[in-house]
Amino acid sequence: MTRKIHIVGNWKMHQSLAEIKSFFIEIQKSKLEFPCEKWIAPQPIHISIVKDLAFTLGNVLVGAQNSSIANTGAFTGETSPQALADMGVHFTLVGHSERRSLFHENHEILNQKTLKALENNLKVIFCVGESLAENEAGRTEEIIKEQLQLGLKNVPEDKIADILIAYEPVWAIGTGKTASPEQAEEVHNMIRHYAAENLGFLSEELIILYGGSVKPANIDGLLAQANIDGALVGGASLKGADFRALCEASIKFS
Ligand code: PEP
Repeated sequence: MTRKIHIVGNWKMHQSLAEIKSFFIEIQKSKLEFPCEKWIAPQPIHISIVKDLAFTLGNVLVGAQNSSIANTGAFTGETSPQALADMGVHFTLVGHSERRSLFHENHEILNQKTLKALENNLKVIFCVGESLAENEAGRTEEIIKEQLQLGLKNVPEDKIADILIAYEPVWAIGTGKTASPEQAEEVHNMIRHYAAENLGFLSEELIILYGGSVKPANIDGLLAQANIDGALVGGASLKGADFRALCEASIKFS
């Protein structure tokens, strides 16, 4: 299997303009060409500036953290996938646990968002993960299969390859707790089989990212696993030096 490691930064509602500029100055300090894909999802208001800086300084692809169910219309505060595509945005997250919990996005909405983003030729990072209570009740597999089955319903065959899956146990996001590499690998392996057998993914081409308190100190153990193809990173993606260190880890595992 030839896998391309993906390091994806989710900046959430962080980063000032000055911090964004410092991030790219840091990124540029490395003389190394990393063998990984580098993707960043800033706040929508920063997409344009990040895209410009990414192009000139860092060879980083830019994405959105959220994208609407519709291309145009009366959806105050939402971001249109058509407008994102117009701006040259590469990907969008769908189903991040903060969207599911804070903004009450259910399976149906997430499915509509996925289909609309794909229709506009955006790549989709579809996020799944169980809560602490679900994990402790032994329901991880059931919850994730349900999220995948309902969220990725009716995806046209020729769009399946535009979807990446991110496994982010909710109890590990922003908490400093991370799943052990072995725990994460077990779930990734299950996801790969389920997605290939039930959702039309090509097993060897599907990229499955792990997310949940990933940092330079723990990424090696995760990337060493056969079914972990990269990381979706919040906190540790904000500083250029940390992001660079995460990318550097890809050298050993490519
Ligand atoms: C995330 O926001 O997707 C995430 C995994 O955050 P953190 O790395 O901070 O846990």
